[in-house]
Amino acid sequence: PQKIRVIGGGLAGPEAALTAARLGCEVDLYEMRREVAGKPVLTPAHQTIDFGELVCSNSLKSESPNTAPWLLKQEMRRAGSSLLALADATAVPAGHALAVDRVEFSQRIAEAIAAEPRIRVIREEVTSLEPIADTLTIVATGPLTSDALSAEIGRLTGSEHLAFYDSISPIVDAETIDRDRVYFAARWDKGTADYINCPMNREEYDAFLAALLAAEPAETKDWEKTEYFEGCLPIEVLARRGPDTLRFGPMKPVGLRDPRTGKNPWAVVQLRQENLRADSYNLVGFQNHLKYGEQARVLRMIPGLENAKFLRYGQIHRNTYICSPRLLDNRLRLQIRPDLFFAGQISGVEGYTESIASGLLTGLYAAAIAHGMDPAPVPRATALGSLTHYITHADAAHFQPANITFDLLPQLEEEIRRKVRDKKERHRMVCERALSAFAEWQAVLPVHAAV
Ligand code: FAD
Repeated sequence: PQKIRVIGGGLAGPEAALTAARLGCEVDLYEMRREVAGKPVLTPAHQTIDFGELVCSNSLKSESPNTAPWLLKQEMRRAGSSLLALADATAVPAGHALAVDRVEFSQRIAEAIAAEPRIRVIREEVTSLEPIADTLTIVATGPLTSDALSAEIGRLTGSEHLAFYDSISPIVDAETIDRDRVYFAARWDKGTADYINCPMNREEYDAFLAALLAAEPAETKDWEKTEYFEGCLPIEVLARRGPDTLRFGPMKPVGLRDPRTGKNPWAVVQLRQENLRADSYNLVGFQNHLKYGEQARVLRMIPGLENAKFLRYGQIHRNTYICSPRLLDNRLRLQIRPDLFFAGQISGVEGYTESIASGLLTGLYAAAIAHGMDPAPVPRATALGSLTHYITHADAAHFQPANITFDLLPQLEEEIRRKVRDKKERHRMVCERALSAFAEWQAVLPVHAAV
């Protein structure tokens, strides 16, 4: 079989390496965090040189049956995920969630890798993705991929297809929007009127602008001080450019006639439906880097949002990821370079478990291909398939990393949805369908024969 090179010793990388080795492949696992002259070389988010370091919380999300994170973990367990088994073995009490002892978890991953004779660990930064003869490569370098490798990925994929920041707009609870003050409309009446528009007159706009300019920014970590992309500037940065910049940008009122007055307002804040249930809306183009308390105060000055409950506040943070919908095929390979797989956060999945999940998938696919087989992609009806479908089919122009949720899974047929009114029961049915599709896929997956 071909050899496999895995770049990145975070979550996706070790999972991919252990999976491919288990399936009979020789693996070189590269990790740039290391000790040099007794001092650790780290990334701006990592505090250790350990494999599988959980950089923030220690939770791998819900274990409540028939939730989407539970379904994903069930599929991973059935596919023999090494890291999930180690997470189970190092779990700490956390109610309905799977949380782990992070030190113990990393330790066990290191032991598993050391015990696997087919894995060779190389503590070195990889900076080139030039093809290597008889070798498949899995890039799993995470949200803080090193600068040199980011440049190399940009060169290969076109730098416009590589993002360095995630800019997150605030989200409000739909029930807390004052419907008497807002109106539904599409700009120039094009398409369906899905947007909720919050109109401002001149006085309201001036007051909002003044409050925004005076609001206190969130603290910036050293590694977040880099320049913003012109295309997704925070609203407070736009506001500082001039009194009308927002009115010509995300608060542009043209083509949004208010049916109650027959006129265009002075400025408009648009709210876009966030999920299929329509129980939450995001403020379009309102990414910002203000303190949460300040966001609540300033954003409640928007007409219709006076009593809004914010489900998420705006944020901007470093996150390197490729535009997978334009670049990857259904087995997570670069379309123009089928010897290159992408896994983990850099492939556009979000979260610890999702990163491990895509490490598992690329490990399985790469091992099968290394043995000369043609593995079937995991079915769309499964959680793993839905994550894959999202990162390979989402709207490329607005692509943002996503966690697993029921919104990514295919809905039940209309007839069933009409009959089964209970949401929990519908979720149970979606999970049941997913697990049976998963079992069918596993039965035909050729890799097991290779071991
Ligand atoms: P990583 O775990 O980051 O692993 C990538 C590895 O590649 C790193 O060890 C890095 O050193 C190495 N590397 C990078 N470049 C090179 C190179 N050129 N050569 C060799 N090695 C290289 N998700 C959650 O579910 N919960 C959270 O609480 C959470 N908090 C987060 C907090 C921060 C600050 C960040 C940045 C992300 C957070 N995430 C969280 C998101 C995500 O789940 C984690 O980033 C997760 O670690 C991603 O797994 P990964 O394997 O893709 O990347």
